[in-house]
Amino acid sequence: MTRLILATRNAGKITELRAILADAGLHHDLVGADAYPDIPDVKETGVTFAENALLKAHALAQATGLPAVADDSGLCVDVLNGAPGIFSARWAGRHGDDKANLELLLAQLGDIDDAHRGAHFACAAALALPDGTERVVEGQLRGSLRHTPVGTNGFGYDPILQPEGESRTCAELSPEEKNAISHRGKAFRALVPVVRELLAQ
Ligand code: IMP
Repeated sequence: MTRLILATRNAGKITELRAILADAGLHHDLVGADAYPDIPDVKETGVTFAENALLKAHALAQATGLPAVADDSGLCVDVLNGAPGIFSARWAGRHGDDKANLELLLAQLGDIDDAHRGAHFACAAALALPDGTERVVEGQLRGSLRHTPVGTNGFGYDPILQPEGESRTCAELSPEEKNAISHRGKAFRALVPVVRELLAQ
């Protein structure tokens, strides 16, 4: 069985990709970065989601000698020309302060009416092999931004993004409902043919 490493310490992401691969009949031994604790985190110096996903995947493939998958994602707001984008996790200045990031964004959009609150979550997922072979795929979840946060599930900007065709925010969806339509779910599902092409079982 081919071992495949995913550049994350988030157990939810590992479970999600493992389930997507298994649904496609691909039973690779998928492990998270925690399986190799001595490998340092990579600086995300790219300026696109795809560049950052590729940087992380290549670094992990080189360090472990294994095929590596990495993803990078964020929220892109139409009236902000795609921002926060790659700065989504540190929009308010401190990495990972979800509440501050969301509050700053809502304040910035305070005068923007419903007709102009379009946005999408974007995700790039990259597969890199130790020999330098690389592929990258992308997924999006389109929606509009609420004026106030609603819902307690999920993380980040989930309480303010209402997906197209939904009356609830992402933070009101169950994890299964969100995975079925999410940018990351779409990008991970787009990886299936890539894994099939590049990795023999
Ligand atoms: P990461 O690339 O998965 O670490 O995501 C970067 C940042 O984008 C997160 O810290 C969130 O602010 C935002 N983000 C990415 N995906 C989602 C999502 O599914 N829901 C809410 N926020 C997200």
